[in-house]
Amino acid sequence: MEQAPLSATKRCPHCGQWSDYRQQPDDRCQHCHELLDPLGPQRAAEMEQAWKWEMPPAMLIPIPETEPAWLRGLKYVVRGGQLLFAATVSFIVWFLTTLAG
Ligand SMILES: [Zn+2]
Repeated sequence: MEQAPLSATKRCPHCGQWSDYRQQPDDRCQHCHELLDPLGPQRAAEMEQAWKWEMPPAMLIPIPETEPAWLRGLKYVVRGGQLLFAATVSFIVWFLTTLAG
């Protein structure tokens, strides 16, 4: 297991050279100018999406008007739990990114 000489550097996955790393998703290698973290922008986009609470509608259970009131009431409770879960995940993501940044 190879250790990084400094925490602020990262080995470039493209040319294998050590490069300054500011822990930004779009940090680029000083030698070959490729992304130091190829998944960085994607991960940043995912974080941003989680932050915006964009839960796919398919994840929420459908509540048809034709169902009996008690069943709809039950589903609203479940849906509320799902939204609460999404909010909690968003908060954790926000908390972790704030710590990391
Ligand atoms: Zn490089």
